Amino acid sequence: MTVEAGRILEALGAVTLHASGQPLPASGRLSAIAVEGSRVAFSIAIDATEAAAMEPVRRAAEEAARSVPGVTQALVTLTADKPAGQAAPARQSAPARSAGAGAPRLQEIPGVKHVVAIASGKGGVGKSTTACNIALGLAALGLKVGVLDADIYGPSMPKIFGLKGKPKVVSGRTIAPLEAYGVKVMSIGFMVDEETPMIWRGPMVISAITQMLREVAWGELDVLIVDMPPGTGDAQLTMAQATPLAGAVIVSTPQDLALIDARRGVAMFRRTEVPILGIVENMATYICPNCGHEEHIFGHGGARAEAARLDAPFLGEVPLDLRIRESSDEGRPITAVSPDSPHALAYKAIAEQVWEALAGATFRRPAPLIVFE
Ligand code: ADP
Repeated sequence: MTVEAGRILEALGAVTLHASGQPLPASGRLSAIAVEGSRVAFSIAIDATEAAAMEPVRRAAEEAARSVPGVTQALVTLTADKPAGQAAPARQSAPARSAGAGAPRLQEIPGVKHVVAIASGKGGVGKSTTACNIALGLAALGLKVGVLDADIYGPSMPKIFGLKGKPKVVSGRTIAPLEAYGVKVMSIGFMVDEETPMIWRGPMVISAITQMLREVAWGELDVLIVDMPPGTGDAQLTMAQATPLAGAVIVSTPQDLALIDARRGVAMFRRTEVPILGIVENMATYICPNCGHEEHIFGHGGARAEAARLDAPFLGEVPLDLRIRESSDEGRPITAVSPDSPHALAYKAIAEQVWEALAGATFRRPAPLIVFE
């Protein structure tokens, strides 16, 4: 059965704002309603000061959406453009806010020293695998590390880290990340089925990322690694802007086409004034496990040359190896389970350079203004 957004809106008509008695759809606070099969998601714009008061409305909206025939899952989030605790102006007009106009500069995440994006110009180059193993490489240096799976279109961290189950609420709306191999992990994949990613629209992307950044009890972290969605489109740009990033690492395979995409990734981060910490060449060399013969299936050295051309650091290369794929797909990442293997050493060497770039960096960049089309 196909669920229509109109039916959801109808059902939401029964949900009223306590203060004004106004029906939710008339309040101008609703985002677009995303429907994917039997799943529904949308957000409600609020002032941060209203978070507690609006929680019953959020729950009622979720229940109303779930009551529509054909809906099996409803995810409703509250979106505030100022973190709680900041002096928010008393009740601005909601429609202006939900359109993202005049969004404030993003705040640092309390307790988190450095937020680093791992990005790629396109999917399938091994971005998530690299993000996971860099995180484990940083943890091997004795650092406190978290991973935020912001690849909301295809969350893969639950699988790569071998994590199942739902994060627990620790207080109010704050949830605890899950933990594997000493690394704290948060992924939208813990909330929704990984197999059927939802359709996300601009404000929802911001809402999801903001919640995963700020409503998760990360505790004290030296580095929070953010696995970005692949590509350099609007959603990626928005996400880069929504995250107080200290820097970005671009993952590419060596062939020309991938490098063109990687170049776009570098350009995107430069446009948002995020420092490029470096480029990683993934799937660079293939060494035949039987005869030891070395092959360069996708070419070799392209990313190093591209890094030089773009005046970005080259962080290293990771070979194409069955063990990396198998361990990643089994939820037993190679840097954790075979820490002395050449692959783990390659990831650790990359992690060391990332840390040097961060620890040496005295800046922490305020995020630029978010502008929605
Ligand atoms: P992305 O996040 O860029 O889409 P993934 O990290 O999910 O890419 O990797 C895509 C596939 O390639 C996965 O099956 C992963 O295990 C595999 N993979 C990634 N890096 C390597 C590598 N260096 N050698 C072998 N397989 C790899």
